[in-house]
Amino acid sequence: MRPSLIVHGGAWDIPDDAVDACKEGGLRALHAGWAVLTNGGHALDAIEAAITVLEDDPVFDAGYGSHLNLDGFVECDAIVMDAATLKAGSVAGLRRIKNPIQAARAVLENSAHMMLIGEGAEKFAVDHGIPLCDPGELIAAAEREAWDRCRLDSHAAEHHRGHEQGTVGAVALDDQGRLFAATSTGGTCCKLPGRVGDSPLIGCGCYADGETGAVSSTGYGEAIMRVVLAKTACDFLRPAGSTPARAAQAAVQLLGKRGKGTGGLILLDKDGNPGLAFNTPRMAYALVNPDGSFFASV
Ligand code: ASP
Repeated sequence: MRPSLIVHGGAWDIPDDAVDACKEGGLRALHAGWAVLTNGGHALDAIEAAITVLEDDPVFDAGYGSHLNLDGFVECDAIVMDAATLKAGSVAGLRRIKNPIQAARAVLENSAHMMLIGEGAEKFAVDHGIPLCDPGELIAAAEREAWDRCRLDSHAAEHHRGHEQGTVGAVALDDQGRLFAATSTGGTCCKLPGRVGDSPLIGCGCYADGETGAVSSTGYGEAIMRVVLAKTACDFLRPAGSTPARAAQAAVQLLGKRGKGTGGLILLDKDGNPGLAFNTPRMAYALVNPDGSFFASV
């Protein structure tokens, strides 16, 4: 099969001065994932490589550079899902893991459970060779400054604007037809400690089904949960005559209409054809064209 790869860096009101950095980050993630896929590698390795690049880039709200919660800490969530088995590995509320996607993968590959949270998830990660970091190592200077501005004005919502870069995600198909999707996030700015959004929830922030396709969502988590966005988009791929673009559009329309929220998604159908949609001012995404060239947009 021809491999395929698409990534995103969130759908929000991404500020003008972050556009170039978001595009560059997306392209770097494609390079990392595509190098795996073009060498005959596994889609899961490609996903991990791409998401790791995005988590390490402070322009995105995942891993290092995540938004801070109300108490001034980073709490990360991540999920990865296998379209062949419908099994997911998911983690939430991590404070001491530099690359949450690695912890999610450890759950996928080594646990009968599909989701672990907090200290239990961190212990599981350590037991599987993933080191803990100091919570402060996840905090980028820009996020600390944004949080300080919020705090000085009782966390009024308008202070969240201007640094609305988002969650990251990736969907990969390898030359053996293996299809995986993943999503990783620091969640929303100034969220309550312990708040978990859509991102690590199977069917909401991510879904992958070999009969239809695979999806990673981003946006206002509480709205995405209401319409189970990723699974809904996969289901819209099912009817004869549906296309990836139309399925993505229909799911995002439902997010606005019934979920009463904003966001976006990327997907690959089961044959690797990409689709995407968003109802926010911008979504950062990058994909590999059929001729192997890279395309990035914000
Ligand atoms: N969906 C994420 C959340 O609500 C945020 C995002 O996608 O940027 O936690």
